[in-house]
Parts: sequence; C-alpha cells; structure tokens
Amino acid sequence: MAVTEIEDDVVVTLHYTLRDPSGELLDQSDADDPLLYLHGHENIVPGLEDALAGRAVGEKLDAVIPPEQGYGPKSGESERVPRSAMPPDVEIGMELLAEDEEGDVSPFWIVGIEGDEVLVTQDHPLAGVTLHFSVEVIAMRPATKEELEHGHPHGPDGHGHH
Ligand code: ZN
Repeated sequence: MAVTEIEDDVVVTLHYTLRDPSGELLDQSDADDPLLYLHGHENIVPGLEDALAGRAVGEKLDAVIPPEQGYGPKSGESERVPRSAMPPDVEIGMELLAEDEEGDVSPFWIVGIEGDEVLVTQDHPLAGVTLHFSVEVIAMRPATKEELEHGHPHGPDGHGHH
C-alpha cells in the first residue's frame, strides 16, 4: 500500500531548518541525513506535525509555531540539587532523565553549577521560543508493524536496528 499524503502511522522523511524569530539558525537536518519521524506518535513538536498533515512528497512549507505548540512555555523555574546526585561528568546544558515513583520518565536540563549544588530546570532549552521551521517533504511510506509498536521509525527502509 502506498501513501500519498502525510497522515497518522506514516513514516516521513524530511529536511528542515529551524530558526528563532530573529532568524538565528537553531537546528537543521544534514544534507545527507534527513530526519525521519513517525506521524501521529509525538516524535516531533505538535505544531510541526499539524503543519505537515496532508502534505505530499516534494512539498515545501514554512511553519511558525508558538511555544504552546512547540517546546512549551518557559516557566523560568529551577531547582537546586546536590551535585553528588548527578553523574560525575555533569555540565551546563546537559539533558538528563528523571524517573518518578510511577516509573514515568521526564527530561530535565542542567542550567547552573555552583559549588556542590547543581541548578536544574524542566524547561526545554527551546521553551518559550516561537519556532520558525522551513521544511521539505522528501519521502513517505507506511510504517511497519514493529515501528507502530515502538512508536518511532527504524531507518529509511523500516528494518534498521537501534
Ligand atoms: Zn524501535
């Protein structure tokens, strides 16, 4: 079964450029290494997923995505934790994962190191930033059964390992 437009459970290959509102480049796909994602499975920010729904191969689009549809609003809140509770190579900007009592995992980021304390925040580094994406749809195909179970793509042909 071939797919002709982006919808849930389709693996999409795309090139993208991400800039902030001042035009500064934040991120982009490499020319020889496009991004793969599984549509409808929260692999990418909700605003970009919405902008891509219904698109066809070869389409180019620009999407301006507010923080609420991107990496969330910025709370500006941080918390002090003992440095001894962190990995020994802890450094500013590092992303780590915290697991709560229910076993839910959520990311947090190191924003400061002061003596034997570390400042951590749950704000994504791009929280509060309006995202300016330029995207080109390169390819798409139906996801494999295994990809749907995992909720992410397994390489261009769907049979890669990870
Ligand atoms: Zn997998």
